[in-house]
Amino acid sequence: MLKVANQVRPKSLVIVAALVNAALEMGLFKTIHGDMLITSALDGEHKRNSAHYSGLAVDMRTKNFPGVKEKHEFAFRVKQRLGERYDVILEDLGGPNEHLHVELDPSHARAGEPLEVPRVVKRTAAARA
Ligand SMILES: [Zn+2]
Repeated sequence: MLKVANQVRPKSLVIVAALVNAALEMGLFKTIHGDMLITSALDGEHKRNSAHYSGLAVDMRTKNFPGVKEKHEFAFRVKQRLGERYDVILEDLGGPNEHLHVELDPSHARAGEPLEVPRVVKRTAAARA
């Protein structure tokens, strides 16, 4: 098992640990085609206000899973490990952009809990002046 101590930041590491541990539980490393691949975290282009831009979301490739059943089982196990504060969604299942999206829902933050990476603010000419 991969464990992340309570005080460790960023919290996206908790998501990564859940992905690894769910895969270990399922023996997925033996049946998956190729490697488990994280395809996005605090990068790439996402929906407006996406949790990715705050460093609270991780995407993982699922196209290389042995079958659809395993994709659903994996998503279920990841959700079980992370609990109600996290959303686990199989996006575009069967489509070209298929992946597992996992995010810490900011609305479920505990009182006083800092939520990661400050939003990336694009510098404007005025801000540089
Ligand atoms: Zn995502």
